[in-house]
Amino acid sequence: MGTVERHMFVDSALVNQAYEDTSLPIGLGQTISKPNVVARMIELLLGAPSLANKPADRLGRVLEIGTGCGYQAAVLSHVASEVYSIERLRGLHERARANLRPFRLATVHLLLGDGMVGYAKGAPYAGIIAAAGGEAVPEAWVAQLAVGGRIVAPTRSSTGGQALVVIDKTARGIERRVLEAVHFVPLKSGIA
Ligand code: SAH
Repeated sequence: MGTVERHMFVDSALVNQAYEDTSLPIGLGQTISKPNVVARMIELLLGAPSLANKPADRLGRVLEIGTGCGYQAAVLSHVASEVYSIERLRGLHERARANLRPFRLATVHLLLGDGMVGYAKGAPYAGIIAAAGGEAVPEAWVAQLAVGGRIVAPTRSSTGGQALVVIDKTARGIERRVLEAVHFVPLKSGIA
């Protein structure tokens, strides 16, 4: 995270707040997550079963749902061999493309589409990370996860709020854990 300049992803009026540990608006009613949360989620992703005994290793292909401004995709490119990042809002998809251009990250693939159905062409994924929270983790994500892979996603919790959910796919089956409360923008279906 120290190498990805966060000010390159926010509006010029917000540049002086880019290094504060806070979420910021990125247009179209969406937000760039606060750095602490990005770090926490990527750290969880790196705890995937496939990396259990080799913590220094990088992940294979990763799917991100909710490109937004492209910041987290850039950070992910430092810990994964390929990053597929899908965004449902054309305006943000295009903004992320422009934001990421100067970084020349050949392993980041930006897609315009509905991430609720995942992205089958890049599957199976070593990790899937969502930046928007839904009622439940879509079945398609579990189906597109490699054995040894992990999903980290904000999801509606039993108390009505949102919590981080971690799903591991192992040879023994699916393991699901609910962690701390979080506040993400809603996961919506369709393209707009
Ligand atoms: N990772 C982003 C955070 C963006 S906020 C960043 O670093 O800036 C979450 C994003 O998820 C929003 O841009 C929203 O439009 C998008 N989103 C919500 N539902 C989606 C879906 N079904 N498919 C793809 N993107 C979705």
